[in-house]
Amino acid sequence: MTPVMRSSLRESVTAEYFGDGPPHWIISAGKAWERAADTYRESVRRRDVIVRKLDWHRRDLDLPFCSTLASRLDACRPNRRCFSGACPICMRAVQRWFVASGLRFGTWLKQDRSQGLKMFSLVPDFGEAAVGTLAQIDWIEFRAHAERALRDAGVDRFFAGIDVSLNHFEDCRDEAVFQFQLWALLEEPRDPWRERLKETINGSRKIARPVLAFEPRCARASLAYGLKNEFTRRVSYVRDNAHRDDRGAALDTRGRKLRGAAWVELMVFLDRIGPGGRLIAARTKMSAHSATKSQRARDASGGWRREFGGTGRRVTARRRSRNENRRGEQR
Ligand SMILES: [Zn+2]
Repeated sequence: MTPVMRSSLRESVTAEYFGDGPPHWIISAGKAWERAADTYRESVRRRDVIVRKLDWHRRDLDLPFCSTLASRLDACRPNRRCFSGACPICMRAVQRWFVASGLRFGTWLKQDRSQGLKMFSLVPDFGEAAVGTLAQIDWIEFRAHAERALRDAGVDRFFAGIDVSLNHFEDCRDEAVFQFQLWALLEEPRDPWRERLKETINGSRKIARPVLAFEPRCARASLAYGLKNEFTRRVSYVRDNAHRDDRGAALDTRGRKLRGAAWVELMVFLDRIGPGGRLIAARTKMSAHSATKSQRARDASGGWRREFGGTGRRVTARRRSRNENRRGEQR
């Protein structure tokens, strides 16, 4: 690939990405709830909702630092973009840039490497964090670990967005954990490499399906998923399949909107890591864009820790393995 890079993500995500031109895609195509991706105006509305929610949580949960984040998002304007990882306007633009860059990388893979476009869902066992502990995550180390895991498996050209959900079993909300997931395009090594990757991202074997690959029906929608900025609480439950003779009980999941203190915690975390914090890339044009804004990171995590007094709850080994088993069976 041409090694020409702009110096920062902010420079690459130009005004056109904030507009309503291509790329366009449908979210959840084929489902009853399918819808077109947000327009610019919709992202502004979403930002306004987040600002109001943060203000509400500041009063309700007595979290003064919510107002710092609310003010930053509220001040996001053309020519004065906030580039917060919690800003729906800026993250929509970064997502659109991510889709366009991914399509270019996909074209290169096809033309230069004769590899079809394949999306990889990678769930690392080191990408789990209990509620209340996001402020303590060394995010630079997490991303370095993910990059190392890919390289150690022989994958040295990749491009990935990082997504997250809050997962728990029905009726066990107090055991909820954030799980980070990589959504990647990559140049596949010639020799067998997937087993190696499973080893490097899931050495503990806690995750039942750490590596999944599929050929997307719509590359744009599929790429966009890696940098989506609506987050769910993924609830696992037992479906009894009582009306079917061919199937016994099975584990399933349903997505719920993420709300409350866990939502605030995630917003503060996303603000801290910035849009670049949700990318990892190597030997592609995007490689230069993954720097974390460390000063803001320190400020934000300091604020969260002060408010919560460092109450990072630890997940016990037992709970962890229960959660993992469930998660594995859902995927
Ligand atoms: Zn913004």
